Amino acid sequence: MDKRIALVTGAGRGIGRAIALELAKDGCAVAVNYSRSEGPANEVAAEIRAMGGEAVAVKANVSDAAEVKEMFKLVAEQLGAVNILVCNAGITKDNLLMRMKESEWDDVIDTDLNSLFYCAKEAVRPMLKGRWGRIIAITSVNALRGGAGQCNYAAAKAGMIGFIKSLAREVAAKGITANAIAPGFIETDMTAVLSDELKGKFVESIPAGRAGTPRDVAGAAVFLASENASYIQGQVIAVDGGITM
Ligand code: NAP
Repeated sequence: MDKRIALVTGAGRGIGRAIALELAKDGCAVAVNYSRSEGPANEVAAEIRAMGGEAVAVKANVSDAAEVKEMFKLVAEQLGAVNILVCNAGITKDNLLMRMKESEWDDVIDTDLNSLFYCAKEAVRPMLKGRWGRIIAITSVNALRGGAGQCNYAAAKAGMIGFIKSLAREVAAKGITANAIAPGFIETDMTAVLSDELKGKFVESIPAGRAGTPRDVAGAAVFLASENASYIQGQVIAVDGGITM
């Protein structure tokens, strides 16, 4: 394969940002997707270009199939066909089941899970043609062990794992791998909203004795996107400081 071209969803900030930067350092051209964080996404793309890399920032709400289709078209025109897809974009709308609104359920399923279907569907055709591809879904340890008040998030993240395993079976013989990364407790905007008391409790439960950083997760993504990971299929790699062992 001549050129590795990555698309990272939700790459303006948090874990997605770190993955975009690390893939660029590893030699990939990178499409930096965002929905609201236009300024930060442009900064990530500029940082990559400043390092001598190739990058574009591209706006799309990944829970909208038409916008996803348009995004892939745009990236193909500007960088070439995507052969590394990292589905990272995600939201939480936590609530106890009894109080959970249908909109809170739908928004999380649409953003975290349906987006994986939309993006993978667009990515897979050119990957099959090129006989090389990497599909990486950012799920959560939550899918493996649950979290109170997070039925919607746990369902979406568990769904991502099932999707990835089925997809891996479909494409494994075609030079394409599909795998998932399950981060534990990572310091980003998503976890910044938690109280200090709750954060302290989480950290106490982590064998590594500290919260993870976006960079910790990016290391696993760079590996899965590499040639070295070509025989790894349908796996979930927990990057969680030991929470799930
Ligand atoms: P974050 O800091 O809250 O960032 C969320 C990212 O998702 C942003 O870049 C956001 O982009 C993007 N996004 C949200 N809705 C989108 C949409 N409709 N279309 C396109 N992009 C959208 O979250 P994070 O902590 O980096 O989390 C990244 C992923 O890791 C998520 O899937 C999350 O579930 C997973 N994860 C995180 C943790 C953790 O502890 N932080 C643990 C396990 C799993 P805009 O700002 O442009 O909207």
